[in-house]
Amino acid sequence: MTYRCFASKIKSMTRITIAKGDGIGPEIMDATLAILKAANAQIEIDEIEVGEKVYLSGNTSGISDESWDVIRRNKVFLKAPITTPQGGGYKSLNVTTRKFLGLYSNVRPCFSMSPFVSTKHPLMDVVIVRENEEDLYAGIEHQQTDEVVQCLKLISRPGCEKIVRYAFEYARLYNRKKVTCFTKDNIMKQTDGLFHKVFDEIAAEYPDIENEHWIVDIGAAKLADTPEAFDVIVMPNLYGDILSDVAAQIAGSVGLAGSANIGEECAMFEAIHGSAPRRAGQNLANPSGLLQGAIMMLNHIGQNDVAERIQNAWLRTVEDGYHTYDIYKEGVSKVKLGTTEFAQAVIERLGQAPQQLKPVKYAANSKLNLPKYVRKSPAPKELQGVDLFVHWTGTDPNTLADHVSKWSDGEVKLSMITNRGIKVWPDGFKETYCTDHWRCRFKATDKVISQHKIIQLLQTASNSGLEVIKTENLYAFNGVSAFSLGQGQ
Ligand code: NAD
Repeated sequence: MTYRCFASKIKSMTRITIAKGDGIGPEIMDATLAILKAANAQIEIDEIEVGEKVYLSGNTSGISDESWDVIRRNKVFLKAPITTPQGGGYKSLNVTTRKFLGLYSNVRPCFSMSPFVSTKHPLMDVVIVRENEEDLYAGIEHQQTDEVVQCLKLISRPGCEKIVRYAFEYARLYNRKKVTCFTKDNIMKQTDGLFHKVFDEIAAEYPDIENEHWIVDIGAAKLADTPEAFDVIVMPNLYGDILSDVAAQIAGSVGLAGSANIGEECAMFEAIHGSAPRRAGQNLANPSGLLQGAIMMLNHIGQNDVAERIQNAWLRTVEDGYHTYDIYKEGVSKVKLGTTEFAQAVIERLGQAPQQLKPVKYAANSKLNLPKYVRKSPAPKELQGVDLFVHWTGTDPNTLADHVSKWSDGEVKLSMITNRGIKVWPDGFKETYCTDHWRCRFKATDKVISQHKIIQLLQTASNSGLEVIKTENLYAFNGVSAFSLGQGQ
């Protein structure tokens, strides 16, 4: 671990953690730090080792306990890309860091620098705010039958409230006019439905900012075709993962974009690209993505004036045609530079502003006003039935229905059987392809059933030789049923 300090005014110093990572990581980190130092950033640095070396030393998480201590103590982490070795059960350090540190918000500004960097979208200036902890990334997966595996999509109210509020506060701070929400709530009415509902609730608190919702498929098409129609876009994790790369690429290059991962306590800043091992050690890589991450970091720690000086110098460098190989274009670029020389070109322009691209002006106080999530009092909850998922190798749903409908009694009644979500009993289609994974839905004959009834059903199923692979309770909250119908029901 090394300690370094960029400025002598110890009073306002912020101590940060850095990791130089793998592949091109050390080169782009050195270039970025050289620019930060020349711009007089008030930071002290603790360097930690993460990534390939740590993985290959036998630590499958890629990071030691001591390094976690440093990151948690300093709370601000600037990380170069790392290489995750293939196979061997190595866990992605990026995903682990986001989840362990509760970095719920991933922010990726994607703007074009036309005509200096080629893009089909010269007016694009979009910020993707991606929920960073939940959704299918909860990583809860199971194989349940020979033919079927599942991945749980978890969406929580605190997760939705925090990310949506972050998007609106970000929009307000950075003088953005509109926040758009992307979901697929026409299909996933509970999970994406909650995200959309919370978006509508929170949007109402920001009457000064326009808001809108798009179904993610057509929204993504519109984003790829007419990105200038969007300003800030907030979305659940998986859509955000995919679309933030699309947005960065169509703005010019994934090599130019940085991202911020923000939590209530800690924050991590990085380039969005990987460690590009084939380019490593040749002084070729573009340090701009990591530099963009570092600029977001400076804004985060309140050094907005330094962030602004660097960003304007960087824009001027790109505008002057001083380009690394990845964005170099004959006729547009003037000089092809290596990593170190590009950093030097930015340093030489500190204090200058771009002449054609729009210079940036960051607010003096960039602290976002984010209240802690407050848990609401529990809603009245009724157990209205249960879905029993069974592993059954038969092919005719009527045979299964004959078997399990005998379990109906005064308290519950078999109401439906589905296969992969499609109703196959009663009145199924013989054309519906059925796997070995069946859902038998038992609903209350009156209003509610007891927990004990579910245990009884499980016991009966086991006694009859039918294997229940999981159950899902069917609840109503505030009198409203909170579970999906079968497709075709
Ligand atoms: P990559 O982003 O590392 O590289 C893809 C290609 O993009 C490179 O071959 C190179 O031509 C170009 N490129 C990327 N960054 C560049 C830069 N700064 N300057 C110039 N050209 C650049 O993607 P990959 O090859 O799929 O992944 C390589 C490794 O990086 C893998 O081990 C992967 O797991 C890891 N990775 C790490 C992170 C991270 O640490 N945040 C993110 C993505 C991938």
